[in-house]
Formats: sequence, C-alpha cells, structure tokens
Amino acid sequence: MRRPVRAYEYCGRGFENASHERGIAVTGRFAPTPSGRMHIGNVYAMLAAWLSARSQGDRMLLRVEDVDKPRVIAGADQLMMDDLRWLGFDWDNAASPMYQSCRTERYEYALECLRSQGVLYPCFCSRTDIRAASAPNEGDGFMVYPGTCRRLLHEQPKEVQARLARGDQHSMRIAMPPSSPDRNVYFDDCVYGPQQYDLPREVGDSVIRRADGLFGYQLVVVVDDLDMGVDDVVRGRDLLRSTALQMWIRQCLLAGGFEPECGTAIADPEYAHLPLIDNAAGRRLAKRERSLDMGALRARGVTPEQIIGFCAWLLRLRPTSEPVAASGLLDDFSWNPLRANHPDRALDPTDPNTPQWLADAL
Ligand SMILES: [Zn+2]
Repeated sequence: MRRPVRAYEYCGRGFENASHERGIAVTGRFAPTPSGRMHIGNVYAMLAAWLSARSQGDRMLLRVEDVDKPRVIAGADQLMMDDLRWLGFDWDNAASPMYQSCRTERYEYALECLRSQGVLYPCFCSRTDIRAASAPNEGDGFMVYPGTCRRLLHEQPKEVQARLARGDQHSMRIAMPPSSPDRNVYFDDCVYGPQQYDLPREVGDSVIRRADGLFGYQLVVVVDDLDMGVDDVVRGRDLLRSTALQMWIRQCLLAGGFEPECGTAIADPEYAHLPLIDNAAGRRLAKRERSLDMGALRARGVTPEQIIGFCAWLLRLRPTSEPVAASGLLDDFSWNPLRANHPDRALDPTDPNTPQWLADAL
C-alpha cells in the first residue's frame, strides 16, 4: 500500500546533506527507550519502521526516548545503536541523534502553546483518587480520567488558586474537546484499517506534565515528531488509542502557534500499528527477559540475518523464518499481508517456524 507523496520541505539542523533527488520524502523514526538491551519485539518494530521509510527511499531518524529518567540505564543508548547497526539498519541523523533529555526547552515551549489555547488545567488527583472515581475501559485496564479537577476549576476556581499558591503537588492535563462532531478522531491505520475514537469518552483528559515535573510521554512524542518532521509512525497496537490523543495534542499545538524546528508544519503522519508479540507464556515481552535480548543472542552466535528473517516472518513479509538481510526486504515491502491478517503472536517453541536458536532461548 503506497501512500500519497507529500511536499518535501525539510530544512532542519543536521540534515542538509540528505540526498533526495525526487525532492519529496516521508520521514520515519526509530524511537527506542534506553532502558536495557533490545529484545526480539523491539527489533520487529524497528524492522517495520525502517522498511516503511527506506523502501520508499526515504529518511529515517533516530530518537532516544530518555525523558523518563528513572527507567534509563547509562550506556544503553550506545548498545542499542550498536545493535541497530549490527542488524543492518541505518539512519540519517547518525552524527546527532535526538535525545529527549536535552529538549526540556522545547517541551516548555509546547506547554506554553497549549496554555495559550486554554486547554490545560492542573490536576491534584492521586492514582487512587482516579481509580476510585472511574470505571476501566473495555478490559484493557485503561482508565478515562473522570474530570474531577476540570469540574473543580469550573466550580471553585478560588480553591484551585489557593491550592496552587500553597504549592500542592499537581499534574497538568490537556482537556479533550467538548461534545460536538469534532470530538471524533479518525485515521486509516496501515495495518488495522480505519480507526475512530471519541476523545472525551474513549481517551479523556490526559496528563502531559506529571506531578513529579517530568513531561508526559504523550506530549514529548508529538513535539519530537513535529520538530523532526516525522510523518511515518510505526509502533505497537497498544498505542492505537494514544494516536488519537496525540492527533488532538498536535492539533492544539499547531493552533497555539507551535513552530516546528524542522521549519514546516507537515501533514498528519501515516500510522502503522503492529500486532503485539508475547513470550511463550503469553505475556508481553519485557527487557528483563534476558535470554531474548540482543546481548544474549549475539553472544550465542546468532546472526543478524537469522533475527531479521524471524522478524520478517512475524511481519508476514516472508512465508518462512529463513535468514535474510534487512536490505533484502526493501524491494517488495508492503503492509498488505499484515493488514490482511494481524492477530497478536506468541513466541512458541513448538511452532515449526520458530528457529532452533530462538526455541533454545525460550
Ligand atoms: Zn484531578
């Protein structure tokens, strides 16, 4: 499935030498969190992101998502980059990858743009308060914020002022639009097809700066993608709902005068969300599963082609998990096979397509 080509006007720092003879491009990104070595599930997502951009000859950028400092492990960024290169991937900002931890000023600026739109308010609720006041949404544990502090601000603005003046700990939330036809967000996902979310009912007012002062994931991703000119986003399907929220944040930022560092306000990104990969016990893969991380697999002599071949099979790009180089998948890359058939997968040692090196690690 080819997407419509968009005007290419990127003129951001560090990319002046990117060669784009056609004068048009999409921009994809890797956005790993340096909280440990990459595992098979990360490689699967990175392969999909890289193929999506590079199969069209387009730009690929690396961003290190180290804004959540408690989770960051020193040196993990370098190991991840080394693993990515070893796997056969490349990216255009190799000389100066983006680090979220260096971008506080941009996030402050974004917060000001949102504030100018009147969509922010302080929230004094604890997790327990929110859990007590809301019903979890259809089975996935997601809780729509019940709007407690939005009502507080509306009904008792003096009380809110007093609490702020006294220094009560609070997060900042972005308000969803009021009930109207505009409150629905639509996008056509490359894998899951047409998506529609009712923002107030299914997403709810969301934290964009946490009570501990850290900027929320949902805000920084939107700001970074705008600043990098990213318009090709590939990630797990657990973020489908986040996409609806991020599209709203993006809309509010641009309405608030946000000027992307890349110098141009680009069209909404294309999104491809991927089926999730579980471990043999049916749980999401986690970085603590050491036997499946790149460090362990490389130490055991597993080759990049073996790992890529298995991930290509997960992405339904190949009928078997035979070894293949990442570059060997560029020519006939398409989302169509995955779009046609995309249940979540579990790593199963008894599946004939599970290679021996992986079965040994499970
Ligand atoms: Zn609250």
